[in-house]
Amino acid sequence: MSDFDVIVLGSGFTGLRAAVAASANGASVVVVEAQPELGGRSQYSFAHLMGAGTRFQKEAGVEDSPEALFKQYMRLHEYQIDAANARALTYGIGEEIEWLADNGLVVKGILPSETNEVSRIHRSGGGWKIIEVLLRVAREQGVEFILNTRVDRLLIEDGRVVGVEAKGEQLRSKAVVLATGGFGGNKELVAEWLPSVAELAGEWVLPVGGEELARFAQGDAIPLASAVGAQIAGKDLWEVTLRPGYVQVSLPSLPGHMVLVDANGRRFVDECAGVAAMQGAVKHAQGPVHLIFDDAGKRAYTPSGDILAAGDTKRRLHPDYVADVVDAEVERGSIVKAETIDELAAKIGIKPEALRGTLDQYNQDARDGYDSVQLKDPSEMRPIEVGPFYATEMRLASIGFTGAGPRVNARAAVLDEHNMAIPGLFAGGECASGIAGYGSAMDATPTATCLVFGRIAGESAAAFASGLS
Ligand SMILES: Cc1cc2nc3c(=O)[nH]c(=O)nc-3n(C[C@H](O)[C@H](O)[C@H](O)COP(=O)(O)OP(=O)(O)OC[C@H]3O[C@@H](n4cnc5c(N)ncnc54)[C@H](O)[C@@H]3O)c2cc1C
Repeated sequence: MSDFDVIVLGSGFTGLRAAVAASANGASVVVVEAQPELGGRSQYSFAHLMGAGTRFQKEAGVEDSPEALFKQYMRLHEYQIDAANARALTYGIGEEIEWLADNGLVVKGILPSETNEVSRIHRSGGGWKIIEVLLRVAREQGVEFILNTRVDRLLIEDGRVVGVEAKGEQLRSKAVVLATGGFGGNKELVAEWLPSVAELAGEWVLPVGGEELARFAQGDAIPLASAVGAQIAGKDLWEVTLRPGYVQVSLPSLPGHMVLVDANGRRFVDECAGVAAMQGAVKHAQGPVHLIFDDAGKRAYTPSGDILAAGDTKRRLHPDYVADVVDAEVERGSIVKAETIDELAAKIGIKPEALRGTLDQYNQDARDGYDSVQLKDPSEMRPIEVGPFYATEMRLASIGFTGAGPRVNARAAVLDEHNMAIPGLFAGGECASGIAGYGSAMDATPTATCLVFGRIAGESAAAFASGLS
């Protein structure tokens, strides 16, 4: 006897979208959430949404199609995603954005993006806006919720998943959907499944959003699914942003008045580039990597721009480099201060003549209005020449997305070691693997995987459950 047709674990984008889809397909559904509140890490997300062929793009005069996104997605992921999964994602996300809008989400325009060839980033107004829509629809459809319950075991009988257990209490169902999110908050899983991040970030590893959000990102799908024979895949697939050691909440790109140099004092990337460029360039740079700026830049810096202005996300971001933060971090020793460039270089272990050479060139470029090395937008540049000078080490350490987890097929069924579906077990979003990868620094992929594979997991779970009744 089942208590519910479908149990969904987790209440972020994936879990709520799965619950809505399963109940829309006739299933009785309960969402079990480990935390005292609903919404997961998703509620804090910027929730920019990648999507192709939407009415919003048409209104903005952008010509695009799911097929174009599919081809680009495969290329950017170096063909490491099963084509059927990539097709489901890229053809499905436009419909998801329109479905959310039809249910009350205000899409606030289309942004150009770093790696997409056309403008595909739909502004949602922040994760909580999407959660609000999903929660309202879920409640209208009669989805039930259990909070404060961290599931620690999947029940399996005759090879079929038949429910869940938390602290010895069992709940039975015909199907279970894993929507438990990523593992950026779990240092042991990061070391095991993202060894290159562990190496690059060292003890600085944190989920994007900071320590406070680590509780949502513990990677429970890995032990839960492993224990019932699931194939865990996606080793070393990640999206990680750069941050200094003192900041927990960091912005993807750096303020224009700073330069980033490698251990040889060489500038190796446009400091105002986005996540994908920064991630690739820093990963391959000879570290340690340092951010360098001067007193005039520090004093002139007042944070602004799209991301900081997005006050409609639930959480305000810390401006990492404003003068009083810098001064406090100098006191605490996490920012190095020196009266001259030579002294600064010596303090951070770079040859003084190399750093001087880089800055001489940069300052000349700033005056000429043309970055002759990294093509940074000249309007962002200003000479770095007024002491005192500052330096702080930067690492790829804020984990935006973790790609390892139980592998799913295009129907969101969890596969076993022999690539066969485990009856009754489905997964989507950040906890699943096989949908996104290293190319997920491609703008706004994670939320797309949550919404599309959440919906597919919910539909598949409902269909599986109805086949049993
Ligand atoms: C600040 C920030 C900005 C971001 N910006 C973007 C962006 O612009 N575009 C984009 O695409 N992506 C972005 N991301 C990433 C994206 O938001 C996440 O990948 C996505 O929200 C993950 O959703 P999810 O449903 O898979 O997991 P989550 O939202 O993390 O939900 C998982 C839930 O499962 C619960 N859970 C875990 N284990 C158990 C268990 N054993 N039993 C019961 N419940 C459990 C957790 O408590 C949690 O509530 C951003 C993330 C952050 C934090």
